[in-house]
Amino acid sequence: MTDDGTRVVRSGLPEPAAHEPSLPGPVFAAHFHLPGDATGPYTYGRDANPTWSLLEQAIGELESPEQPAHTVAFASGMAAIAAVLFSQLRSGDAVILPNDGYQLLPAVRSRLESYGVEVRTAPTAHDAQLDVLEGARLLWIETPSNPGLDVCDIRRLADAAHARGALVAVDNTLATPLGQRPLDLGADFSVASGTKALTGHGDILLGYASTRDAALADGVRLWRKTVGAIPGPMESWLAHRSLATLALRVRQQSAGALALAEALAARPEITGLRHPGLPSDPAHRLAVAQMRPGRFGSVVSFALPDKDHAERFLAALTLVDEATSFGGVRSTAERRARWGGDAVPEGFIRFSVGIEDPEDLIADVMRALDAARRT
Ligand SMILES: *Cc1c(COP(=O)(O)O)cnc(C)c1O
Repeated sequence: MTDDGTRVVRSGLPEPAAHEPSLPGPVFAAHFHLPGDATGPYTYGRDANPTWSLLEQAIGELESPEQPAHTVAFASGMAAIAAVLFSQLRSGDAVILPNDGYQLLPAVRSRLESYGVEVRTAPTAHDAQLDVLEGARLLWIETPSNPGLDVCDIRRLADAAHARGALVAVDNTLATPLGQRPLDLGADFSVASGTKALTGHGDILLGYASTRDAALADGVRLWRKTVGAIPGPMESWLAHRSLATLALRVRQQSAGALALAEALAARPEITGLRHPGLPSDPAHRLAVAQMRPGRFGSVVSFALPDKDHAERFLAALTLVDEATSFGGVRSTAERRARWGGDAVPEGFIRFSVGIEDPEDLIADVMRALDAARRT
């Protein structure tokens, strides 16, 4: 097994055994038979579960195919993010967050500050986080960033952070482990929401943190047990089942996103068009250097002139659901400013390309743009 398309269909599967399924079904158990001393892999359902173990093995194989890694699955991406930050940071520590990352990071920031952690922020673009590294305990990177799609140099930032004794975590949600491998680029943690492209069907919430360091993994696992942010066995099993198609989905969605971005580039009413796969994109050169070829993700972002124009566009789409989140098999789009959390213009659209035939999708988008122009 050498490449991802081959790896994903078998990742995390147990050795074939006669009369057993290839992927065992979900194990629903609050507790396990436990005679005598409280040892062994499975004791109580908040600590470990065989369905999580297989999923964690699978994700670890994708995030770190060449070296063993430890993966801890969570109830959501936020549960995984909180686990890494709150298990590693203590009062008096300094942490660096992106100022253009996931919309809940400001809420995380105020929580950290209330516990006496110093929080510094800097933009993702131009590796600006480099300028505020001195004395930090942890650097949090999000690349490509959501929703602005800026890219930073993971290797460069990780080397600089490690030289100052800081740990490095990368939010790998948008790229998925098939788009980029932060651990290979020097990060200590690759953390992601499995709710998005990883599972790709828009029907479960999930998160995970992967690391090659056993002690760091133990800290994150103890945090999960302490706060109880555990994934359900059903969600874990569905996620594992969905991994088999990850390479197909990433390939199709990335190609569709690039085709859509190219079509949008010709539209005069659009400004601020971003997609890391677009050769004219400011992040393209760096994206090509650290991401896998042709796997720049499903997301295209752009702005229409104002709120009303954007809403007319969204309402005129027939093949695209107006919904938040991204990375699913069905295309979705939304006017991001409606949430109030991102620094984006009123007409800003985050568009996630699904697995539809790109020609159909692009025709629908062009027709909706035409309709939105006529007021
Ligand atoms: C969605 C998202 C999260 C949060 O994940 P949930 O599963 O919704 O908790 C974190 N980071 C990024 C980049 C995301 O897009």
